[in-house]
Amino acid sequence: MTEQERIEAIVKEVIAGMKGTSSASPKTAASNGAIPKTSRVALLTKTEQFEIKEYPIPEIGDDDVLVKMEGCGVCGTDAHEFKRDPFGLIPVVLGHEGTGEIVKIGKNVTKDSAGKPLGIGDKIVTCMIFKDNPDITMFDLNKQNVGGADVYGLLPDDDVHLNGWYADYMVVRKGSTIFNVSDLDLDSRILIEPAAVLIHAVERAKSTNILRFNSRVVIQGCGPIGLICIAVLRTMGTENIVAVDGNAQRLEFAKKMGACATVNFKDYKGQEELANGVKDAFGGYLADFAFQCTGSPVAHSNIYKFIRNGGGLCELGFFINGGDATINPHFDICAKEITTVGSWVYTLRDYATTFDFLKRAKAIGLPLNELITHKFHLADANEALQTNLRQDGLKIAIIP
Ligand SMILES: [Zn+2]
Repeated sequence: MTEQERIEAIVKEVIAGMKGTSSASPKTAASNGAIPKTSRVALLTKTEQFEIKEYPIPEIGDDDVLVKMEGCGVCGTDAHEFKRDPFGLIPVVLGHEGTGEIVKIGKNVTKDSAGKPLGIGDKIVTCMIFKDNPDITMFDLNKQNVGGADVYGLLPDDDVHLNGWYADYMVVRKGSTIFNVSDLDLDSRILIEPAAVLIHAVERAKSTNILRFNSRVVIQGCGPIGLICIAVLRTMGTENIVAVDGNAQRLEFAKKMGACATVNFKDYKGQEELANGVKDAFGGYLADFAFQCTGSPVAHSNIYKFIRNGGGLCELGFFINGGDATINPHFDICAKEITTVGSWVYTLRDYATTFDFLKRAKAIGLPLNELITHKFHLADANEALQTNLRQDGLKIAIIP
């Protein structure tokens, strides 16, 4: 076959495929069979106990979307809710890092929140659910993150029930943000929500004007958040990265993600010795910039010692209250003139940037998808959360 004939054959095949899908029902069509009458959910009925319940799939209104779940990450927030119910949500269907396929769509929903066409068969993620807050508007969120907004998977139970991703189906209702991410593979889609946290953190870091091309950057904490932070920095040309953690396996992964050196804090006694370890890892220099990605107050106290005079720090590790940290304002802040920013969740704009980041990360060969070390079926949600609490592996995901 000539090159020309091969191209023609491919085009014919594609056109035949398009005809095939257009003969399907335009209103409702699951790619893998009919939509059932009921959906399973993993309902957290008391601490450390999910029960699989079955609820009817409701009628879909003109502004609603019915999504078949394909995968959902387990977040540290889920683990806290599972263990202690700090948000007082029980009974609740958890799961906010989810993605799935549209199987039914109301007639008023034709585009996603970025203006991309949306229809049956498209793969989507959701972000926040709008509240009556004029400061939270689409793509005008440089001024405010979505910390105060609702998200699916952290909503109180109601008569729809299908409002978290630890379920076979979820109902996306009017007022929600929804993105068409059909061009990303499943593992990338599962990582969108945590990756958006790092896109936001790096944007916050850049606001200090200290983080530059090939700055010396220290990442403290090599859980999924710290590891994705390394990946985001790599996609923007930062190569001089030192990772700090107490777990040799995680440090190994940090190297795979592109850290040029690692420091295991367990090998050092005391703050000064550890700071010297970081300095040695940079070839005799302190860091220009640091990202603090642990929830440990001691780690927060330590990180100032890793940063040069006039350097910067982004603190993003404390997504729950981990207690007070001690610093010395004279040595750590004043005398060193360290510029510090905090970072919390993300804005909607960061979400759109995240899709591009994930494609770029894949294109330059970063092993992002290897972050998902465990996949549990929905029926094994208890085991999935226990695995997360034991800190086994990195990112845990729930699949149907
Ligand atoms: Zn999360």
